[in-house]
Amino acid sequence: TDTKNIRNFSIIAHIDHGKSTLADRILELTGVVSAREQKAQYLDKMDLERERGITIKAQTVRIPYTAKDGGQYVLNLIDTPGHVDFSYEVSRSLAACEGALLVVDASQGVEAQTLANVYLALDNDLEVLPVLNKIDLPSAEPERVSKEIEEVIGLDCTDPALVSAKSGLGVADLIERIVTMLPPPKGDAAAPLRALIFDSWYDTYLGVVVLFRVLDGSLKKGDRIRIYSSGREFEVMKLGVFSPESVEVAQFGPGEVGFLCANMKELSDAPVGDTVTKADRPTDTPFPGFKKVKPMVFSGLYPVEPNEYEMLKVALEKLQLNDAAFTFEPETSKALGFGFRCGFLGLLHIEIIQERLEREFQARLITTAPSVIYKVDTTDGRHLQIDNPSLLPDPSTIAALYEPYARVEIHVPNDFVGNVLGLCEEKRGIQKDMKYLTASRVVITYEMPFAEIMYDFFDKLKSSTKGYASLDYEIIDYRQSDLVRLDILINTEAVDAFSVIVHRQSAYPFGRSLAEKLKKSIPRQMFEVIIQAAIGNKIIAKERVAPFRKDVIAKCYGGDITRKRKLLEKQKEGKRRMRRMGNVEIPQEAFLAVLKAG
Ligand code: GDP
Ligand code: MG
Repeated sequence: TDTKNIRNFSIIAHIDHGKSTLADRILELTGVVSAREQKAQYLDKMDLERERGITIKAQTVRIPYTAKDGGQYVLNLIDTPGHVDFSYEVSRSLAACEGALLVVDASQGVEAQTLANVYLALDNDLEVLPVLNKIDLPSAEPERVSKEIEEVIGLDCTDPALVSAKSGLGVADLIERIVTMLPPPKGDAAAPLRALIFDSWYDTYLGVVVLFRVLDGSLKKGDRIRIYSSGREFEVMKLGVFSPESVEVAQFGPGEVGFLCANMKELSDAPVGDTVTKADRPTDTPFPGFKKVKPMVFSGLYPVEPNEYEMLKVALEKLQLNDAAFTFEPETSKALGFGFRCGFLGLLHIEIIQERLEREFQARLITTAPSVIYKVDTTDGRHLQIDNPSLLPDPSTIAALYEPYARVEIHVPNDFVGNVLGLCEEKRGIQKDMKYLTASRVVITYEMPFAEIMYDFFDKLKSSTKGYASLDYEIIDYRQSDLVRLDILINTEAVDAFSVIVHRQSAYPFGRSLAEKLKKSIPRQMFEVIIQAAIGNKIIAKERVAPFRKDVIAKCYGGDITRKRKLLEKQKEGKRRMRRMGNVEIPQEAFLAVLKAG
């Protein structure tokens, strides 16, 4: 296809503002998916995704379109994941586009998540078209929301597309705008091949499937390709597009988007953000901005039943095939027995993996509190990296302790600046910059320990800005910090899975808060449970879970049948995610209480 007839675009939206519905409607109106064969929300393939409303795996569709001017166009709709944990993937998908539709629910207005992605789009020099959705609703306020888009984002919104993705109203006109208002790609067909990898996944039949966007040059089946960062070479076995089913395509030129299979065995053979070139005539200018995605947050995953260890291992191996950022290796906990230390991008990533393990593999798990990687210099000159607080050596043998720092960029309306500064200071942040983008819009830059961001920073930021702040972060370096390990003892036994590394200054309040949270999440047992927080040998907090009183149990058994059944069901549900330690039953929430203790 001639580049001037190609349009590559993404849809950016806050959750529930109608991204999937709009994508479906575009596919339907262009005849790519007929209304009848269309199952709801074609683009969200995984059940999990549908329920959570998060697009985990990018899905990209080629849409042939005849415009009003009679021209034959190819529209490539590139889907993006939608959370700060995946912002690198989002930025690579956007880098494959020239334009983006900014979908805003006209009955709601601009929301935080919209913003993070709009800024990524603007960073990638995309043309952004505002689209006001849900105008069929009586509560829609297109004028107010247009003003908000102008004020909050600084985007011209004098003539937004007004649509109802649900009824289809205005969508045909929007598709015309994609053609007339978004720029076509540019590229040099005669130059050496440069193609950007913006997504890849493992398919049981095909091996690794790579989604790419050609920048320069051309690619056809049988070509010998080279992955720029690794220098590894492969032969292209299959080349095509999704439309929405896969269709083979003989050759790709500049601006085109498609998939390739080349007998790659692992996702690391084709990392997102890397450049594909040809072995016989390689480019010397890869697409800029390639980063290896590395897990940043580590957490223990343990089977609820020790005999399910092997099953869990098989499940983790399968999951890893499809998730380059997820890592695992065996570890042993005194409290929990045999399990795995797993690496993730962030907390949402942990939740997603945990849910997939439970849903797709019926695994029953205990997840321990997440930790960042700490670096330790010991007094005898060794350098250690610790991804599990319980492995921190005795303080008397530590010469220096380092923790990762991140540069954090927060976009926020100026009404909330005070709240954001307060929160950042509380989280040991160092202010680096603050500037007004528009009269009402501020960008604040801080450097801050990554551990502080990882916990509940995102939630606190949202609640202190009515959801208006957007957050982006990047790990920059390691810095020496005055940190200590806080241990938790249950009935005087230290439970390694509860240990956490905290800043010395906040260790006391943190320990007290954690002990309180644990008291709330550990149910009453037949005997008293004593919870203690300790630094070394020093006990700094103590809580007590009183035993059952006999009459409480008696009451349960006396009552009506539905109530009894409910109670039994509740117990069964609880059992799924409980671990017995000594003779104390500890539920899953207790292991994550640390996330709420800060
Ligand atoms: P996403 O999270 O951005 O992908 O949002 P969805 O496409 O899943 O839509 C969220 C909800 O809004 C669903 O219940 C849709 O049926 C509904 N919705 C989407 N577009 C419209 C619209 O134009 N009008 C109305 N009334 N509802 C809509
Ligand atoms: Mg969706």
